[in-house]
Amino acid sequence: MVDLQSQYKKLQPEIDKAILDVVGSAAFINGPEVKSFQSDLEKYLNVKHVIPCANGTDALQIAMMGLGLEQGDEVITADFTFAATVEVIAILKLTPVLVDVEMDTFNMDIEALKKAITPKTKAIVPVHLFGQCANMEAVLKVAKEHNLYVIEDTAQAIGADYTFRDGTSKKAGTIGNVGTTSFFPSKNLGCYGDGGAIFTNDDDLAHIIRGMVNHGMYKRYYHDVVGVNSRLDSIQAAVLRLKLPHLDEYCDARRTAAEYYNKGFSNSDNIITPITSDFSTHVFHQYTLKLKNINRNALHQHLLDKNIPNAIYYPVPLHLQKAYTDSRYKEENFKVTNELIETVISLPMHTELDNEQQNFIINTILDFIK
Ligand SMILES: *Cc1c(COP(=O)(O)O)cnc(C)c1O
Repeated sequence: MVDLQSQYKKLQPEIDKAILDVVGSAAFINGPEVKSFQSDLEKYLNVKHVIPCANGTDALQIAMMGLGLEQGDEVITADFTFAATVEVIAILKLTPVLVDVEMDTFNMDIEALKKAITPKTKAIVPVHLFGQCANMEAVLKVAKEHNLYVIEDTAQAIGADYTFRDGTSKKAGTIGNVGTTSFFPSKNLGCYGDGGAIFTNDDDLAHIIRGMVNHGMYKRYYHDVVGVNSRLDSIQAAVLRLKLPHLDEYCDARRTAAEYYNKGFSNSDNIITPITSDFSTHVFHQYTLKLKNINRNALHQHLLDKNIPNAIYYPVPLHLQKAYTDSRYKEENFKVTNELIETVISLPMHTELDNEQQNFIINTILDFIK
């Protein structure tokens, strides 16, 4: 699905040197590379505070801890996302409330969000799925009306731009109270191991979170708040620092590849290509088709037989996962996710795709559905 080796080769001399420099310095934890990456990312995102941490799942958990959410508080998120989003809600003994998504963008459905609000609701976690922002203007409006926190799961959309109706724009992850991301190798800005970060413009929240990622310490061996051990290590920061200046170019390469796929499938009525909403750019973490009158599972297998990587994101909606069943969920409230899990298929999407590879993928699919 991704080609991390070719991407690495283009930056190999710089990256090899940066990694060896960290090894030589032995500043593995909280070394200067971490601070430098943090401030480079703050500039790129135009956000006051970036707090690096160990992975995107921790980032979500720590953001919720930092906001002081407590047992029994309800947190609303999308039914159609990677499980990490809901997992941390459950781990913290908060109550996850899953809502349906929009058929065209795969993102949280705002009407479903409104219906899910109760007096116990404390936070909304919009997930910017597959690389484009959820309808943040509408999410913020709902949050304001009900006095709720907004935590943006930006693991799949770092670099995307959100434009408000007044024409101003912000980077994905810097719009709500707090945003989180992942630097997992296959994410749009990936390191060579695990990594993550939390973003906020709130000075007090940033201070709390900075202690929380490091055992709740502000001064060594003085533990003011309950924390965790979740740090971005210096080697990963060194890699990310070299890749960050290429992030916009990586996003462009993904968009170009997506347009090429779109053109390739434009004459097929039974293949619905991804749409880009007018308020967000799309950074195509995934390129996901919806199929009509086509046996999706047979196509999935056929592509695998032809050595074409492809994946079903996601095969089971969260409300039907064993770990997250809840007797309050009603199937009629999940019409869209229940349909998506049967019809979506994601194709290879990365920065190194070339037209020849894409032609092969497109033609193999078109031949199959003829
Ligand atoms: C990848 C991902 C995460 C988790 O990130 P990790 O770094 O793997 O822990 C969270 N949410 C979404 C939507 C993701 O895609």
